[in-house]
Amino acid sequence: MSRSVVCASDPSLPLSSPHAAANAPTKALEINGLYKVYSGGLKALQGINMEVLDGGFRALLGPNGAGKSTTIGIMTSLVRKSAGRVRIYGIDIDHEHSRAKSLIGVAPQEINFSQFETSWEIVGNQAGFYGLPRDRARRNAERCLRAVGLWERRRVRSRKLSGGMKRRLLIARAMVHEPRMLILDEPTAGVDVELRRSLWELLRRVNAQGITILLTTHNLEEAENLCSHATIIDQGRIIEDTSMKQLLARRQMEIFILDLQHPLEHPPRLPDFQSELLDPHTLRVSVKRSRGVNPLFEVLSERGIRVSSMRNQANRLEELFLSLLGGNHQHADVPQHAGAPPTPAA
Ligand code: ADP
Repeated sequence: MSRSVVCASDPSLPLSSPHAAANAPTKALEINGLYKVYSGGLKALQGINMEVLDGGFRALLGPNGAGKSTTIGIMTSLVRKSAGRVRIYGIDIDHEHSRAKSLIGVAPQEINFSQFETSWEIVGNQAGFYGLPRDRARRNAERCLRAVGLWERRRVRSRKLSGGMKRRLLIARAMVHEPRMLILDEPTAGVDVELRRSLWELLRRVNAQGITILLTTHNLEEAENLCSHATIIDQGRIIEDTSMKQLLARRQMEIFILDLQHPLEHPPRLPDFQSELLDPHTLRVSVKRSRGVNPLFEVLSERGIRVSSMRNQANRLEELFLSLLGGNHQHADVPQHAGAPPTPAA
């Protein structure tokens, strides 16, 4: 679907990109062998490979310190990489830095605009910063402010806006120069449920216009609701890179916590079931939903293991996420992204 067609049908969004071309590359982002060693020697990124397709909506997930901000920092030229290659729509950020940069819009986690400027000034100045001619800058600023519901408040100084409005202003500012990809760093951090939902709606609309989105979030529900793909990073390495659908399909495993009547010294051998003895009285067992629990009880009973009670461990993306992070990364479904590490540059 061509972006211009979509835009024509929804003029409320400012996204008719001049960069769009019939034969535009399909990869919005390609990261190959990305390493970052900070000056103190900390290896923040240890050979990241990832790509985001044009029009995609990808979550970049990971615990604190995983390397998300470093990755985004490199893409947006705030952090100098040690080794590796980053291409935005086929443009190497090392070779054509400004061109690559003009293709992305960033909404950072921190509110970093002047509290004394109005929304109109903030968004308009950003358009000017990217060299948009005055007329186009004004048009885009208006569309962006309307898109995020701030047009009526365009003359209000930003410090008088609510927290949620400021977040929306960050998104408007990120879109004003007609980027093809938005990078959103925790866009709904600290906002209430209602506002989060309205921001989700906005982001869906923006993505439906053909704008690629890379989103970091701690809110897995957010990732699940918005994103078509997820990349999970941990300790500077990608540990999962798949479609959200495939990721969620893993939830076909149901996890039960069994309280045992008699303590066990060693984990029992339960063929066909993944189990872990959490403590002598507590066994955690993964059961394929399609199989049901009867075969589990049969095998437990064969081994003389009596269960006094059982409960279902909530089976959401959170558990999956934690199991991926907490595991030793040898999960059969977790792709390994091994590669010969280059010698990191200074
Ligand atoms: P995330 O965004 O996933 O929380 P970061 O990319 O911020 O992770 O951090 C990755 C690692 O790099 C962490 O161990 C962090 O402490 C370290 N780090 C981040 N910025 C710097 C810096 N400027 N100097 C040294 N270490 C840093």
